[in-house]
Amino acid sequence: MTQALGALADRVAGPVIRPGDERYEEARRVYNGMIDARPAAIVRCATVDDVVAVVRLAADKGMELAVRGGGHSVPGFGTADGAVVADLSGLQSVEVDDGLRTAAAGGGTTWGRFNDVTAAHGLATTGGIIASTGIGGLTLGGGVGYLSRAHGLSCDNLLSARVVTADGEQLVASADDDADLFWALRGGGGNFGVVTEFTYRVHPIADVLVGLMFFELSDGAAVFRFFDDMLDEAPREYGGYPAMHLAPPLPFVPEARVGQPFAVVVSSWTGDLDEGQRFLDRFRQVAPPAAEMVAPMPYPALNALFDPLLPPGLQHYWKNAFVTELSGEAIAAHMEQGARMPAVTCAMHMYPMTGAVQDVPSDATAFGHRDARYVANIAGMWPEPADNERNIAWVRDYYAAIAPLSEAGGYTNFASADDEQKAPENYGSNYRRLTELKRRYDPGNLFHLNQNIRPVPVPEPRGSTA
Ligand SMILES: Cc1cc2nc3c(=O)[nH]c(=O)nc-3n(C[C@H](O)[C@H](O)[C@H](O)COP(=O)(O)OP(=O)(O)OC[C@H]3O[C@@H](n4cnc5c(N)ncnc54)[C@H](O)[C@@H]3O)c2cc1C
Repeated sequence: MTQALGALADRVAGPVIRPGDERYEEARRVYNGMIDARPAAIVRCATVDDVVAVVRLAADKGMELAVRGGGHSVPGFGTADGAVVADLSGLQSVEVDDGLRTAAAGGGTTWGRFNDVTAAHGLATTGGIIASTGIGGLTLGGGVGYLSRAHGLSCDNLLSARVVTADGEQLVASADDDADLFWALRGGGGNFGVVTEFTYRVHPIADVLVGLMFFELSDGAAVFRFFDDMLDEAPREYGGYPAMHLAPPLPFVPEARVGQPFAVVVSSWTGDLDEGQRFLDRFRQVAPPAAEMVAPMPYPALNALFDPLLPPGLQHYWKNAFVTELSGEAIAAHMEQGARMPAVTCAMHMYPMTGAVQDVPSDATAFGHRDARYVANIAGMWPEPADNERNIAWVRDYYAAIAPLSEAGGYTNFASADDEQKAPENYGSNYRRLTELKRRYDPGNLFHLNQNIRPVPVPEPRGSTA
């Protein structure tokens, strides 16, 4: 193996970082500080040919292969003990075509970089809420964010993808070419190949009105109920979500309230700013916020708003569930569990799955559960490994309280390593087709460091005549 990695280093343009290299300690790290894997080599791919070389080496030598985009996966799929890592962080070019309203970006681009470039053209597409997250993992798993009610999931805006498959071949997948692969890439995660370039549809986005409103827990149930009621008639310019947080030490939070639990509404409005102010006023009419910040800002600033609170290296353990009906019982569970939040960096975010997300039929892409109304994400995030037990217990207790009031399946991008057995529920009726395509494109399961879709047949449902 040592010889093979040495030969690889002579062939690729990017650096091959191995134990003993002074860059190794930093290069082996991913975003979740809980992950402490020691790969055999991290290849900082500088070209598509580098990616092909790493994939071929892993396939030929039977080596564990980790593909790393932004490195944000909570289970740490971007690394593994003894693996060769295809680190795509060197593939970060972003090119905008103003006429076609498209943007093509390298497979290791972060949303921060993508948004900065497209915003210079007055354009954006649906991305996540944190700038340092990779477009790679987020798009391949689906992609929910501030713009999803208006423009659908990130994967709904994907027009084509350049892919290196398990046999080292290069394909372009789109609605016209390798359409099955294109279907699978839009929700199926990193199971089907390494995407070296994503081309998205982008939309005109000017300044966004942003609102952070912290409500007393005693008002939380009324605020969540109001949010749920207004969701069906709210204009698609509205892209917010209800949340539970401990108040962070920000200038608009009274000092005495920092660290206390609140029901929160995080809002974004991409339409006329005055109209947006009037819309956000509706929340104040439900209950007076104990603290609030409402201001217009460029979309990339909104995308980077929470990054300082969530630096790389925090400990992460998450659980999530799709929710089709937000019952009074579920809201009460959120108030109770949210009040027990153990760290100011922890959060519960309940992202709406309505609007443009549901314009796309459930079987049009691999992403499961477009019939859900929300995806509720309980994100345990804390600085000290000594606090792991307490924080993990909080995430599990919270999940146990809402799981009976939610769908069995969850969103793969928010799942933890111990959620892997949930793949059939996560994909629902799309799961069978995914396993068929996995057998076609990656029969040896080379790409298995992900929420894995195994290349094994799924029994026909009972009563099926197929
Ligand atoms: C702080 C934080 C905030 C988040 N916010 C959101 C959010 O707002 N909305 C949302 O939908 N999700 C969000 N997520 C979840 C996020 O979508 C997933 O963690 C996603 O997997 C991250 O992608 P990545 O490329 O950064 O991660 P990585 O760990 O690099 O990759 C994740 C998975 O995707 C694969 N992969 C990555 N890039 C490629 C590629 N180019 N080709 C093939 N496979 C690839 C990897 O092999 C791995 O299996 C957030 C995560 C964190 C930690």
